[in-house]
Amino acid sequence: MTQEKPKFYLTTPIYYANSRPHVGSAYTTIACDVVARYKRMCGYDVVYVTGTDEHGVNIERAAEKAGIAPQELVDKNEKIFRELWDLLGISYDRDKFVRTTSPEHARAVQALVKRTLERDKALPEKERAIYKGKYEGRYCIYDNLYVSDTPEPVNCPTCGRPAELVSEENYFFRLSAYKDRLEELYAKNPQFLVPDFRFNEVKSFVGAGLKDISISRKSIKWGIPWPGDPDHVFYVWYDALTSYMTGVGFGRAGAEGDADPVFQRFWPADVHMMGKEIIRFHAVYWPAFLMAAGLPVPKQIVAHGWLLFEQEKMSKSKGNVAYPEPIVNALDQLTSAKVGNDALRYYLLRETVFGHDGNFSRDALITRYNADLANGLGNLASRVLTMIGNYFDGVIPGQCTWDDNEAAALKQNVERRRSGALRAYDEYRFSDAVQEIWQVMSLVDFLLVSQKPWAKIAETSRRVAVGGLLHDVAEAIRFASLLAYPVVPDATQRIWEQFGQEGKLANQRIDQLEWGGLKPGTKIGKPEAVFPRLDKKQALEKIEAMENEIRNPGAAQEAAASAATESTGDRSRATGHDAATSQAPAAASSTTAQESPATNYISIDDFAKIELRVGLVKSAERIKGADKLLKLLIDLGNETRQVLSGIAMAYAPEDLVGKNVVVVANLAPRKMRGLESAGMILAASDGEDGRPILCTFTDEIAPGAKVK
Ligand SMILES: [Zn+2]
Repeated sequence: MTQEKPKFYLTTPIYYANSRPHVGSAYTTIACDVVARYKRMCGYDVVYVTGTDEHGVNIERAAEKAGIAPQELVDKNEKIFRELWDLLGISYDRDKFVRTTSPEHARAVQALVKRTLERDKALPEKERAIYKGKYEGRYCIYDNLYVSDTPEPVNCPTCGRPAELVSEENYFFRLSAYKDRLEELYAKNPQFLVPDFRFNEVKSFVGAGLKDISISRKSIKWGIPWPGDPDHVFYVWYDALTSYMTGVGFGRAGAEGDADPVFQRFWPADVHMMGKEIIRFHAVYWPAFLMAAGLPVPKQIVAHGWLLFEQEKMSKSKGNVAYPEPIVNALDQLTSAKVGNDALRYYLLRETVFGHDGNFSRDALITRYNADLANGLGNLASRVLTMIGNYFDGVIPGQCTWDDNEAAALKQNVERRRSGALRAYDEYRFSDAVQEIWQVMSLVDFLLVSQKPWAKIAETSRRVAVGGLLHDVAEAIRFASLLAYPVVPDATQRIWEQFGQEGKLANQRIDQLEWGGLKPGTKIGKPEAVFPRLDKKQALEKIEAMENEIRNPGAAQEAAASAATESTGDRSRATGHDAATSQAPAAASSTTAQESPATNYISIDDFAKIELRVGLVKSAERIKGADKLLKLLIDLGNETRQVLSGIAMAYAPEDLVGKNVVVVANLAPRKMRGLESAGMILAASDGEDGRPILCTFTDEIAPGAKVK
């Protein structure tokens, strides 16, 4: 942390840890990651915080149904979130990940309320921000769900039964007293919430008058206790929103409240980013809570729309939600390159106008990948590199005039696109930023086609001019790679290196990018396809197969746990417990009703469909280019099978020969790396990194024996 640099603090919502993250949560997190990378490249000292919201009645009930402690349930799900962010290469601050069940977070929440109560002492009773009052609301006893915070009759959004009237003594927050102060905040900060059409909705909500809200509950145990009154726990919103301060040290042990130096430097947050369904909590409640405690309010709330799913998928029982892992892993495996993250990021940010709802389609993702990444950026870079390699011995040729008008136009155009892209990044118009940058690609493509360097190079007199052209288009690609880095960080770094550029793109100053940085005489690297083309049908099938593995996980316990968490109704919470989000966004719902707990059991007849046999490993060898796979020949008694198995990281080939293993003998043969695999061998997955441990036998057993 350098004190001279300006600071920038941004957050995702603190995701509700009742089920695994889907592509909707990944969308928010990726968009934040683009902003974080961009701001770092503009010279900011960036803190990027995310976390998991682990309290509340829904988690309490889900754990009970799964027969485990709430802490065990959230430990399991929190790990899945962090693993996904690692897989997606999200550049959040690992040491600032917030779990709302952590001791420092409990201290932060209690410190915030104590601070408010302290300030209240100076006020007449009627003006105090926090007071005890009678809560009346509607509660579904079947789903243990607070359905509404008003006494009017209403049906439960989960089961449809009439919700019961409950009343209990709660702590209330005098939100009604903050109307004027909030309106003043909005008036003074016209960019407080973007996009503006959502800001207008919030302004009219506040303009219509605000009701006080209950911020504690007596009937729930799984929460942070109220200081000095442990019969009450904090209501989930007050708890979850405070996470944004925990992330920068508000609850750190030894520092009282706002005394922590990290908090002093980074609070208030510069941006809270989120989906549109939780705007009200961030733009109305949160600033009011902070005002009551005498703390600065966040500078900006940025809200995006929902990702809606392919229509044909939504009607099927299995298909109304997409997970990021299968997309990333399938694309990486099919191309034997690290392209999955870039493909997902590029698609999400290019396809949807940020702030509005968008459609999510795997088909469109593959189309975008092939058109814009494989044929566009990747292909252009490799064409230019190949020509420099072939015509100029792999050395960037000197600058010279190749066509006065065209050369000047190229420079001018590239500089204009740079300004456009930077402005778009600044305004969270990611799709526009990407389009500006890809205009540079189109221009390079046009120049190659119209100038035909491959036709001119044979004439000695034109050789220098061809060199000048290739220098300039290479410079344009260098420019575009640097500008595109926040969106497609993996491939642009490889292109950067292929053009002989040193260091990490992450450390370049995007705001100081000038034409002419590519030095003649630079030795280029070997041209390699950064985005190998995908066969769409094959890619879609592989993604589908991998999604099915997630939807029907092998471990029965895991299935039972996630089924229980998903049946409690409140699926959309993300830093959030919006009783009104019964109309959960498609992007945020986790599974469909058809996948209720019962369907996680299989009958004995289903199990009998799987033919498990003892196999004796006859030989084992590594497969070139696939560092996880081993090719095994397995004796099944009356036949020998070739089976490929992803256990190479845990077992050396020579250790396997002579071992008895369990083979799924009636699995349809499939091809991996061009080799046929006829069956599958069973292994347990151990520890954080999922190290495979083979299932074997303690006693002697003949190959081919049935396992049942
Ligand atoms: Zn109900």
